[in-house]
Amino acid sequence: MPGMGAIDTADPYFSKDYNDARRHFIELARARGGRVHSHRIKATGPGNLPLFIDSAVFGDPRPCKLLIVVSGTHGVEGFAGSALQRHCLATLKRDRLWPTGYGELWLHALNPYGFAWLRRTNEHNVDLNRNCLERFPGPANPMYRTLNPLLNPTSAPGRGDAFMPKLLWAAVTRGISFVRQAIAGGQYEFPRGLFYGGDDKQESIAIYESILSDPAFGAVETVVQLDLHSGLGPWGRCTVLPSVVPKDPTNLPAYQALSPWLPPRCRGKVYEVHGGLGKALRRALPQARCLAFVVEFGTYSMLRMLATLREENRAHHYRNPESPARARAKTRLLESACPNDRRWRQHILTDGSRLIIRARDAVSETPT
Ligand SMILES: [Zn+2]
Repeated sequence: MPGMGAIDTADPYFSKDYNDARRHFIELARARGGRVHSHRIKATGPGNLPLFIDSAVFGDPRPCKLLIVVSGTHGVEGFAGSALQRHCLATLKRDRLWPTGYGELWLHALNPYGFAWLRRTNEHNVDLNRNCLERFPGPANPMYRTLNPLLNPTSAPGRGDAFMPKLLWAAVTRGISFVRQAIAGGQYEFPRGLFYGGDDKQESIAIYESILSDPAFGAVETVVQLDLHSGLGPWGRCTVLPSVVPKDPTNLPAYQALSPWLPPRCRGKVYEVHGGLGKALRRALPQARCLAFVVEFGTYSMLRMLATLREENRAHHYRNPESPARARAKTRLLESACPNDRRWRQHILTDGSRLIIRARDAVSETPT
């Protein structure tokens, strides 16, 4: 832990809560010449305060090349994503001249409810990164069904329910990739379960689509989206997972620019996800060549992440909102999504902003 009063170059960008994050994002975006809009959702935050998705647009008012940087698709992961966005905006030159034809769209807190209430999912327990389907209901996931009783007990968390041994046993008997795909692939059957993709399009996704349907984006030919997440991969390591890319992306400047962050061996996907945000992007800008990436900052092990998500989910649904045990479960989830560790925080800002600058250069230099 940093000593009291120690100078910390990372911490100023990390917010104490959603409202703090949002206020700083808006201030910075305006100060750097961003055109800011706030989109209110119906759900409210703690203290009945309103919740917003905030957008900031930079550069050419009618770009043909567009870079999108999204934070908080998974609510609580927005603490890390928002910090990186703020860091990048703070280091932008105030009088920066943007290349002709190039624009950026920054979206802050796509899932403001989860950000404010310390959840991965939104106000309907929906994982937004499983919600961008063309039609509902989503595909069946029979593998998930077999694991549902283990993942989602219909009771408050207690001591010693042997989740880890049981999950490990499932991994041993069925194979680790089977279990990973079964769980993280998403499901549309258990509304209180983990990785639930919803039974209709969520308000956040509708807002996302309406932002992109602005005529200002009607001339976009190339779009690259960086959707900032945390909690997957080795501690502090930044990994870029392609979610929607053209058939052979290796010659595209943006793909090349991000290749140092692609996972080793895997030129594709860790697991297959239905309804990821990249799908919504491709549908929203059908005329454009679309590259969508999930940017992950690793924290703790996948098993620990899963156990933490499971505990918070049970506490959220089956504990009194005022209960200390519920608050503790949420604090643990926050730590999993944005560790209170100075070096981790410094590292994701340094590496993450390098990645974003590389993407910016590559997209702005893409031939049209
Ligand atoms: Zn995530």
